[in-house]
Amino acid sequence: MNYRDLADLIFPNAKDASFYETKYPERNLKEGAMVTRFAPSPTGFVHIGSLYTSFSNLVLAKQTGGVVFLRIEDTDHKREVENGIEGIIRDFNDLNIHFDEGPIKGGQYGPYIQSERRDIYQSFAKKLISEGKAYPCFATEEELKNLREMQELNKERIGYYGSWAKYRNLPVEEAIAKIKNNEDYIIRLKSPGDFNNKVILDDCIKGKIEMPENDMDIVIIKSDGLPTYHFAHAVDDHLMRTTHVIRGDEWVSSYPIHKQLFEVLEFKEPRYAHIAPLTIKEGTTIRKLSKRKDKESAISFYNKLGIPDEVIKLYIATVNNSNFEEWYIANPDKTIDDYEFTFDKMPIGGSLFDLDKLMSISKVYFSKLTADDIYNKTLQYSLEYDNEFYNLIKDNPNYLISLLNIERNIDRPRMDIGSYSDVKKEFWYMYDELFDKKEHPYENINYPYDISFIKDYFTNVYDENDNEEDWFNKLKNFASGVGFAVNRKDYKENPSNYLGNVADFCSIIRIMLTTSNTSPNMYDLLKIYGKERLLKRLDKFLDSVKN
Ligand code: GLU
Repeated sequence: MNYRDLADLIFPNAKDASFYETKYPERNLKEGAMVTRFAPSPTGFVHIGSLYTSFSNLVLAKQTGGVVFLRIEDTDHKREVENGIEGIIRDFNDLNIHFDEGPIKGGQYGPYIQSERRDIYQSFAKKLISEGKAYPCFATEEELKNLREMQELNKERIGYYGSWAKYRNLPVEEAIAKIKNNEDYIIRLKSPGDFNNKVILDDCIKGKIEMPENDMDIVIIKSDGLPTYHFAHAVDDHLMRTTHVIRGDEWVSSYPIHKQLFEVLEFKEPRYAHIAPLTIKEGTTIRKLSKRKDKESAISFYNKLGIPDEVIKLYIATVNNSNFEEWYIANPDKTIDDYEFTFDKMPIGGSLFDLDKLMSISKVYFSKLTADDIYNKTLQYSLEYDNEFYNLIKDNPNYLISLLNIERNIDRPRMDIGSYSDVKKEFWYMYDELFDKKEHPYENINYPYDISFIKDYFTNVYDENDNEEDWFNKLKNFASGVGFAVNRKDYKENPSNYLGNVADFCSIIRIMLTTSNTSPNMYDLLKIYGKERLLKRLDKFLDSVKN
């Protein structure tokens, strides 16, 4: 009896591994094209961390004319959630992220769900057993526990390796007898490694990392017949012809195992790029952003705030490549697709997640949109999250569009809107229904002088048909007549001769209309709001300020 008999007994129906080598040939791609993949377990949703990892895989494949596929890693039943696969696929669709191949789309290198690839893994496990490079291990829970205790006692490295690996040299006859006797077993790699040797990971992002060679007889096929992550990774990424494994850096320490698996299976090793996680500060410690604990991790968190998915991608691009943001700001007419991402610009250590930074990128993004576009998306957003605003804007698109157009199509556009919910925050005062709901809109606003001249200004001087220059000249004239300095220098020299300067006069008007001291261009605001309504608002203002 030999290894071949043992392999036939364990996997009687498995095809010869060469069948799959022929079935999944090398991909016919141009030089330098990367084949990448995103390989989530079926967690049911896409979170910002997984989006970050998938992003690198997507952009690098796309920009090198390669292929990116989605592979669902569902060999660990303990981690399974209901509709776990559907949820991930739905989220990627909503995010407008499309893989070239995957569970729904299909492709020549499928199936793309690991639990449907059981036969493939078994073929390769069979090959290893028949070559004496893997073996059935019959160790019980009890035996493994004893082993650990012995190792602890003797201050030895913990694990199933070398002379501690009780079943690695079990004679084939005995193994066959045990299997025929229905004893439980799993399949382990017979590791050819030596812990005193070194292996070097030449990581595309982190550079060279030296680690001890693997000497553990790791499990490759579990008792349920499914592979472990390690084995599935080697078999799948070989047969799917992945050129670059871009994955979270929690896998760095597993590299020696993976390297060894590629060697014993006689596969060409892919390149590896290990991505540092997004992190968050908790008190004084910094930890990985958690999909369970941190609200910022869920895409829905941004959707509710009215931050477009495109902005999340922009933020991820910013973290991903250190000079992306500068490029994006300097190139108003370009999008993410025009930027060339490279491994050498990716962060080596964790990147602190920064919501303020995300918001500031969002403002740049919004400044590049047209007013019509913002209007339409704000309408959609409000329909879902803010019915009151939806009803106010739905029948009068032009009103909001003209507000959004203030200081938009210019060299340095306004950067005050960073989300669809900001539209209301920015322009609420232009909607009387919202303004009238405020109980004390002018709370804490006082003037050390009588401001009733404002009524005179609006009644007798302000003309909504004036162009901006005439409007400002008339305003200055009037202000000067009621005691404001028109000229900075005059005011600086003799401030006590004046009520204030023209800017102070304008501020009264601005506060009257907006309740705030900062606003978009006032000429435009006044004109869009209209004289008749201004006079009404003015009465409210004067009443309130007098009191
Ligand atoms: N299923 C693994 C995970 O979710 C994938 C790691 C990899 O990309 O190889 O961490």
